[in-house]
Amino acid sequence: MTFVLYLFYPLFMQTNLFSGQSADLRSIRDRLKIAFGRDRAGFRVSAINQFIRSFISSRTMDWQSDRAFTRLLNRFSGPEALADAPVAEIEAALEGVQFADKKARELKDALLHVRARAGTVDMEFLAGLDVDTALVWLEQIRGVGRKISAATLNFSALKKRSFVVDTHIIRILRRFGFVKPNAETEDVYDAVMEAANDMSADDLYEFHWHLKRLGQNTCKAFQTSCNACPLSESCMKRMDAPMGRSGRAA
Ligand code: SF4
Repeated sequence: MTFVLYLFYPLFMQTNLFSGQSADLRSIRDRLKIAFGRDRAGFRVSAINQFIRSFISSRTMDWQSDRAFTRLLNRFSGPEALADAPVAEIEAALEGVQFADKKARELKDALLHVRARAGTVDMEFLAGLDVDTALVWLEQIRGVGRKISAATLNFSALKKRSFVVDTHIIRILRRFGFVKPNAETEDVYDAVMEAANDMSADDLYEFHWHLKRLGQNTCKAFQTSCNACPLSESCMKRMDAPMGRSGRAA
């Protein structure tokens, strides 16, 4: 019996995990919680400010985009003033951010788009929408994908139940076997949200930062440290590795 179970265990894991079941998600969440402890949001900014922060953050280290975000807050009296500011002034405030010129142009366009549709450069009205409707509203803005829309809803004072998927999270959940190897941002989002029925907005926030931390330190793009990984017992990639448990990642 044990031998039969051993033979079919990888198959069972594959089908079970690919379906994105709650038990698998809970297992990952609980292991990370034990490893990293509690990680709850301190101060939450308004939805429009979180939108701006997320909009400028792609392909940039967090500390650099946070600095640029603080500069924007200091240089402009608010989102309305930022929307009306010359692109060159916005670009100057985005110093250190990747593609600052492009982001300055696109951010201004995005804020003007918000004003045209909402009547003001503000997103508090999203509080009254369900998450799916709010995601659709945000993703109609040029340059806004699921990462920015979910962050606007979950990281801000709106504190809605949405999950922010970044490259670290896609990589880990693919390797672990929770999603298919070719799963993209929205696939990962859907799989996590479907399985996260017992997780609050705070839990989803914490889960994001725990996975990101694992991706930055342990399950890196080109190097894994499986021996030190809290997910190693159930990770498909590690189980696939015949000898070495850590090393260069595929
Ligand atoms: S066991 Fe290895 S491959 Fe799997 S999540 Fe951890 S570091 Fe990544």
